[in-house]
Amino acid sequence: MLYRLLSCVTRKATASAFYRLPALIMKPQVYFVLGGPGAGKGTQCAKIVEKYGYTHLSAGDLLRAERGRPGSEFGELIENYIRDGKIVPVEITISLLQRAMEETMKSNEENNKFLIDGFPRNEDNLQGWNRTMDGKADVKSVLFFDCCNEVCIDRCLERGKSSGRSDDNRESLLKRIQTYVQSTKPIIELYEKQGKVHTIDASKTVDDVFAHVQKIFDKEG
Ligand code: UDP
Ligand code: MG
Repeated sequence: MLYRLLSCVTRKATASAFYRLPALIMKPQVYFVLGGPGAGKGTQCAKIVEKYGYTHLSAGDLLRAERGRPGSEFGELIENYIRDGKIVPVEITISLLQRAMEETMKSNEENNKFLIDGFPRNEDNLQGWNRTMDGKADVKSVLFFDCCNEVCIDRCLERGKSSGRSDDNRESLLKRIQTYVQSTKPIIELYEKQGKVHTIDASKTVDDVFAHVQKIFDKEG
């Protein structure tokens, strides 16, 4: 009787260990996608998704969705941060990113290739990621869409005519650019020192920028 019980427990334990094994192997493989507001991160991510089968997670889009979710306790806080071009505390952003990655991999663990767009934007974001995701996801590298502030501002103002975004106006944009220069650039430089950054000239046309992007993904997968 005892033997039967033990062997049953062992079989169960082994089965569940096997069940968990793929989760250990199939860790999320992540590209961080960074660049100023309007640099073309979202546009290029959509093209990468189409050609290379990645899942695009825009931190900004996730925050906007949370802001609009009925009953969200963070809605007002998120709106205030976004309008001021400031960066939302990482606990909120990371829980949204984590949930989105889990949801994506829940249906098929092989869906583990992610583009995380617009994150990490500052030291708080980076520390939060390292704290929470250390050992749970691999950051393959950073795609840095490099574009001068003037072009970024013009593109966002153009987008603002139809985007309905509360931060695509000149006042918010100047704050967003300031945040980008003061807080995000140092994060890109940090990854650069680790040899992890692909810098892409993002002031060109969408197709020319994507031609450069393809060279990276054709090599790295
Ligand atoms: N944001 C944030 N944390 C993030 C990503 C975005 O706080 O990790 C906020 C921030 O206020 C930013 C805004 O969301 O200015 C819009 O971000 P998004 O990436 O959508 O803007 P984009 O750079 O694509 O124009
Ligand atoms: Mg975007």
